[in-house]
Amino acid sequence: MKKHNFSAGPSILPQEVLLKASEAIVDYDNSGLSLIEISHRSKAFVDVMEKARALVLELLGLEGKGYKALFLQGGASSQFLMVAMNLLEKRAGYLNTGAWSQKAIKEAKLLDDIYEVASSGEANFNYIPKGYDIPSDYDYFHCTSNNTIFGTQMKAFPKCDIPMVCDMSSDIFSRQLDFSQFDIIYAGAQKNMGPAGTTLVVVKEDILGKVSRKIPSIMDYKIHIKQGSMFNTPPVFAVYTSMLTLEWLKGLGGIPGIEIENEKKARLMYSEIDLNPLFKGFAMKEDRSDMNATFNLVNDNLKDTFETMLKEAGISGVNGHRSVGGYRASMYNALPLDSVKALVEVMSELESKA
Ligand code: PMP
Repeated sequence: MKKHNFSAGPSILPQEVLLKASEAIVDYDNSGLSLIEISHRSKAFVDVMEKARALVLELLGLEGKGYKALFLQGGASSQFLMVAMNLLEKRAGYLNTGAWSQKAIKEAKLLDDIYEVASSGEANFNYIPKGYDIPSDYDYFHCTSNNTIFGTQMKAFPKCDIPMVCDMSSDIFSRQLDFSQFDIIYAGAQKNMGPAGTTLVVVKEDILGKVSRKIPSIMDYKIHIKQGSMFNTPPVFAVYTSMLTLEWLKGLGGIPGIEIENEKKARLMYSEIDLNPLFKGFAMKEDRSDMNATFNLVNDNLKDTFETMLKEAGISGVNGHRSVGGYRASMYNALPLDSVKALVEVMSELESKA
């Protein structure tokens, strides 16, 4: 029986995508060959890559606006350095909203001067700082739209005169935003898009080519763009599966369609956290993430009972990250509302038992 999968990442993918992807592993499109044993330069795979790149821009509403979509490797973590390599000349501003922002800052600092425009570190990152200034003479501003570990999400983005770079690893394609306010968006595939192994980068071409340093080819966005995201062998299976997920999303009405579902799931989850006296939410209410709900048991004595009940209900992956403790329910695009209902039922059953 399929489990209710709340894993933070790699995480749940649509069942129909998993089925199609598994068929392609054995025999791609009745070709007598597996998708993973054909050349990435074959027409069959080039078509997959081009379709995936086009779907990204279409779903984000960025077609014809000077953006290019790339499927790279090295995870979102490699983008921490690659962004700086391509954009950092003197100084950049970073918003520090948690562990992933800190890692982005650490890597960029290897190259040049980084200024933290604001941080919520004093409160273990349970909120998103607001009202900070971004100097207009910086090279760029970097933020993390959704903080996977802490369960906070930026509901608004600052007005910015300089290029804005956003790590959207854990909420890309989940909600409507004006994506044209960003100049670079990057995201590891393994939450809302596909299996681990590829990283989506959406870049506005006209911000590139302005730094004086020599950029190694594999780190140079311009080279990846010129090569059609095929500078070297791409992770073919991860790109194909991402393409299938993007098609699935388009079939559901794209981002506006999935946003309605995501809001229903988050509302149900947070209303249980707020109404059930046995639980306490971690993140400040106004900054709560629709993707990752973080919460704790008020009384740890109930831990074993709660976890046994979760297991019996077929609920998997709700353990919190070690830096926050407690529980984290990740409600990515492919998670059905019924899974949240199942989790909420266990939480209210615990209340009736306690
Ligand atoms: N940024 C965020 C917001 C993340 O959640 C993660 C992974 N969980 C990363 C970056 C790092 O991604 P990767 O493991 O693909 O390098």
